[in-house]
Amino acid sequence: MVNNISILGSTGSIGTQALDVVDNRDNLKVSAITANTNIKVLEEQVRKYKPALAVVFDESKFSEFRSSVADTDTRVSAGMDGLIEAATFADADLVLNSVVGMVGLLPTLAAANAKKNIALANKETLVAGGSLVMKAVSDNGVSLYPVDSEHSAIFQCLQGSPSDKALKRLILTASGGPFFGKTAEELKNVTVEQALNHPNWDMGAKITIDSATMMNKGLEIIEASWLFDMPADRIDVVVHRESVIHSMIEYVDNSVIAQLGVPDMRIPIQYAITYPERFPSPVAQLSLTEYGKLTFFEPDYDTFKCLRACKEAIDRGGLCMAAANGANEVANRLFRERKISFLDIGDLVYEAMLNQENAEPKTVDDVLEADRTARELVAERAERL
Ligand code: MG
Repeated sequence: MVNNISILGSTGSIGTQALDVVDNRDNLKVSAITANTNIKVLEEQVRKYKPALAVVFDESKFSEFRSSVADTDTRVSAGMDGLIEAATFADADLVLNSVVGMVGLLPTLAAANAKKNIALANKETLVAGGSLVMKAVSDNGVSLYPVDSEHSAIFQCLQGSPSDKALKRLILTASGGPFFGKTAEELKNVTVEQALNHPNWDMGAKITIDSATMMNKGLEIIEASWLFDMPADRIDVVVHRESVIHSMIEYVDNSVIAQLGVPDMRIPIQYAITYPERFPSPVAQLSLTEYGKLTFFEPDYDTFKCLRACKEAIDRGGLCMAAANGANEVANRLFRERKISFLDIGDLVYEAMLNQENAEPKTVDDVLEADRTARELVAERAERL
């Protein structure tokens, strides 16, 4: 049973919902928290949860943050060193990694090497460094619990599964985002505001744009292939607009098991923390009759080029996945800064993925290099757009 939790990315969407879960469980203590830049919320969290350690990743905010909590007993730190300190913090028996982006890779590896169980909400680290992360997890005998709703659903469906041989395929559900059913022509001039308007899930800006481009689902196919050791051709995506079925597994006898619930991340977050136990949660009960019907469609791999890029990246090899992810992190940000168009994101991710020589990473440096090259390619192309 988890008693002390370290939360990387505690001021973000997943982090604050994880603290809701903590509020609801008497025996849970927060030992370390980290934020990227939001030192105001981080300070409030220091005062409320009294962690032993608080870290601000953005070093330019460090001195302001340090003075703001100088009257508390919480020790403070900054930068990647601080993140790694929080990921390996002696008191913590579970590390929730909910930072956004590739920056989560080194802390995830550090946590595994420090023999910490990990609740992983940071899909980008598994996408970029999947083979290295899975090896660190198995070498150190630690558990990796998925927090992403689809992967938590599959993990829940797999409880009591007879053997690996019985599993035939994974069926990831996708909401389709705000632009489901649109043609490329219709997506030419979409605005940041339109892309940020997700039909079902209330999430951070980066993942909401990833959801609009369907890059999010592409990243999740890769994430699922690592977590459940499945080849890409045994992971299917079905667009399910209502986001009630969070994903499914199919056994060799063609029996399909699904996990359902209202779209609320606090179920998968809580399950990752309390596994294998279940407890009452602050989440609303599902009323199927209120929905009346659930719908399912094929995804459009031509219009949503990011999805295709991720599928092809799996076939081409590990570093191509890192390149696709790095390219997307930059393209996603440039779109939000209104420097490139919505459709440019898919084109740039696809180009950077193809530009990467297909190979498997041998070390973290290989991953960081592929990531950097992809980022540079996107930044350079964007200058000309
Ligand atoms: Mg998800």
